[in-house]
Order: sequence, then structure tokens, then C-alpha cells
Amino acid sequence: MTRALILGGTSEANLLAAAIARAGLEAIYSYGGRTRNPADQPLPTRVGGFGGANGLADYIRREAITHVVDATHPFAAEMSRNAAAACAASGTPLIAIERVPWAKATDDNWIEVADVASAVAALPENRARVFLAIGRQHIAPFGAKPQHAYTLRFVDPPEGALPFDADVIVSRGPFTLQSELEMMRTRGIEWIVARNSGGEGARAKIDAARALGLPVIMISRPPLPERTRMESVAEVMQWLGHRACLGA
Ligand code: NAP
Repeated sequence: MTRALILGGTSEANLLAAAIARAGLEAIYSYGGRTRNPADQPLPTRVGGFGGANGLADYIRREAITHVVDATHPFAAEMSRNAAAACAASGTPLIAIERVPWAKATDDNWIEVADVASAVAALPENRARVFLAIGRQHIAPFGAKPQHAYTLRFVDPPEGALPFDADVIVSRGPFTLQSELEMMRTRGIEWIVARNSGGEGARAKIDAARALGLPVIMISRPPLPERTRMESVAEVMQWLGHRACLGA
């Protein structure tokens, strides 16, 4: 009998959870616990870390998990590494749903960098209005360039002081090209720092930057472990043994 563990926190994981619930398969949805009010899922849900790869391997055995689906965000590399190690240790089949990264179009003005430190270095020295479209746990290094007027956008209001002065937008989205254009125009944004998440949900800001001719400092994905990857929920449903869902 199938009893899957979905490592979630993404729109792909939510779509998969809905498909699994519709199909009547057994599964547990796992959130990392980064947002205060994560979306309800139609599956039993747990929240918070497992305690590294060993903790996850223990959890897999204890809960008699038969399949693990790593549907985490492409920048959640630690979780993905732990999932690969835990599945290897416990002999559990693992699959990843991985979005295709955004590709630079000819009229994009991207500066592609490997990590957050290189993104800080790539910002100009002269004061500019910068939209930091990255998670709150990655903003501290931008304190090294305090001359800029930063706009941040978070799902939850920040707890405690930020490491530098910034305008904070609290919003869960979804963001459209229109709303991103308006936000960038109203705030006079001149630079954008983004991570190459890929997928449709987060790409409106990239389209808006292109339309406005703004430079984007694009942080590439971290290295992810070797594992089998699929792009669609339907393929994962088939992998879980539910053939009827193909094409859904
Ligand atoms: P990360 O750096 O790879 O993970 C750090 C630790 O958090 C992991 O080692 C694990 O703790 C715990 N963790 C992460 N995801 C978990 C999950 N789904 N279930 C249980 N524990 C989890 O990950 P992150 O970048 O902080 O992302 C955390 C979560 O937010 C992920 O579920 C991800 O899909 C979601 N998310 C992230 C981003 C992003 O920009 N990174 C964007 C959207 C959604 P233990 O070692 O103790 O097991």
C-alpha cells in the first residue's frame, strides 16, 4: 500500500496534495514551518524539521513511508540533500518535482550570480532603489550596502528589527504583471534582486523588470542532489501507482 511523504511548501506540492486526496491515496504533507499560517491541505499535515537526514530516515521508518516526494522550493537545498540521504539510508524511493528555471530572454537585462554574497557585490555603489525579492532569511548580507533604499516583500510581517532600513510589503500574492509594474513604478524601483526559482507563480516580477528595462541580479540555484526529477503532478501520480490520473 502507498503511504507517501510530501516535502512541501510550494504550489506544486499543494497541487500534488489535492491530486492525492482526490485519488484517495494515503500521504502526509510536511511543511518546514517558515510561514505562520500555511495553507490548509486536504491531507494529514505535519510542521517543522525532522532533525537532519537521520531524523528524516527515522521518521520514514516510524511512519512506514513507502514513497518520498521532494516538492520543496528549488532553493531549499538542505532539505533536498537530507531527503536524498534519508531515502538512500532507508531504501525508500524518492522523486523530486522540479520546476524548470527561468531562461534569460534577449531583452532581459540580467546579471547572473552564484549566491547572495555575489548579489550584494553586484549592486552599484551609488544609492539606488532596490527591490529584494528574496526570502527574509537571506537579506542580512545586504546590510553591507546600507546606502540603498530597499523594498522587501514578505508573506508574514517581520518579527523584530530588520538588519537595515527598508520598506516592507506584506503580501502573499499572487502577483500579476500589472500589479508588479505598478509596485515598481510607484516605488521608483531601479534594481531587482531575485532568485531563479522558475515556475509561473513568481515570474511576474521578472516580466515586469523586462517591460521596464530594469536590471535583475539573478541568483542561480544551489546545487541539488542527484535524484529522479519530474515536472508534472500527473507524472508523480503515475509514479505513486495511480495511473488514472495521467493527463490530469
Ligand atoms: P532548507 O534551507 O533547505 O531547509 C532547512 C531545514 O528546514 C531542513 O534541513 C529541515 O530541517 C527543515 N525543512 C525544510 N523544508 C521542510 C519541509 N518541507 N518539511 C520539514 N522540514 C523542512 O529550506 P528553506 O529554504 O528554509 O525552505 C523551507 C520550506 O519553505 C520548504 O518546505 C520550502 O519548500 C518552502 N519554501 C521555501 C522557499 C525558499 O525561497 N527557499 C520558497 C517557498 C517555499 P531538519 O534538518 O531539522 O529536518
